[in-house]
Amino acid sequence: MNQLLPFLIPGRGARGYWVQITEGLETMFGWRDYPPDVAQQLGEALAAAPLLAADMTQAGRFNLQFQGEGPLKLLVTQIDAQLRLRGMAKHAPDAAGDFQALMKGGLLAAMIEPEGDGERYQAMVEVVGLALSEALQIYFGRSEQLQTLIRLSASEGKLAGLLVQRLPEGEGARSARAAGARSAAQPPALGGESGGEHVDPDHAAAGSGNVDNDNWEHVYTLMRTVTPDDLQKWSGEELLNRIFAEDEVRVFEPRPIELVCRCSDAQISAMLLGLGRDEVDSVLAEQGAVAINCEFCGRGYRYDPADVVALFAADAASGNDQATRH
Ligand SMILES: [Zn+2]
Repeated sequence: MNQLLPFLIPGRGARGYWVQITEGLETMFGWRDYPPDVAQQLGEALAAAPLLAADMTQAGRFNLQFQGEGPLKLLVTQIDAQLRLRGMAKHAPDAAGDFQALMKGGLLAAMIEPEGDGERYQAMVEVVGLALSEALQIYFGRSEQLQTLIRLSASEGKLAGLLVQRLPEGEGARSARAAGARSAAQPPALGGESGGEHVDPDHAAAGSGNVDNDNWEHVYTLMRTVTPDDLQKWSGEELLNRIFAEDEVRVFEPRPIELVCRCSDAQISAMLLGLGRDEVDSVLAEQGAVAINCEFCGRGYRYDPADVVALFAADAASGNDQATRH
């Protein structure tokens, strides 16, 4: 199942998302023949995209793009506000190695493209760190000024990731206070030994800066223990309850993610109709069939002469005027 699970750790002034993608992988990775190490980085980038785009409220697209001079030339993931996700990579034929070998020295850009005429937003950083998760943490720290911890994992059958972010100063205290109010009516399930560690909401609300720092330090220490195997093995709630075993973790309604390219038969058909019958016939005459590959996912579309006849006949029957197409 593909899903994005939002959560809040009120007592620690932290919030985050967990992501899992198991559907659509064969298709998205199948159209292009990626070397395993390239597929690994692409998989991690695909897991990261929903985590990074989760707070996007306006209609539009979030792009995470890597460009490099090494064996990995280009890696792009795109996700929209409905969490429709796609990704691709361009690489040298013999591209192999870990994150550093493939991506070090390149540039990582995060881009928000709003629908319509909203303002584009772009932030770019040089790739540093030992893994994509580290590069993204550094990106967040620098360009967003938000303390963020990210863990990513990709295997052939599952992409998974976890992002935990420190709530802005003050907001953590408010959340803690709200959670405190709820806890009074409804004690958290994991009460037992957390007494000594538990933050007194009133204390946090009083604005002692050290409490906030200690809380984040605690989250940081726990997140360091999370391995790629943990991400592969556990469901979101299981994982969160294991990592933050002493804390109350509130999870919210999960959101579905669709791993799919935007290309389609309808889109390619429209393009051929836009070219016009003469143009398409001349390709048929030269090559026997019209073969088109999606520039993004690499998926192949093929129209033999009978398909072309049927396509234009259907279009004429539907009364569409080619001149209005583009
Ligand atoms: Zn495509």
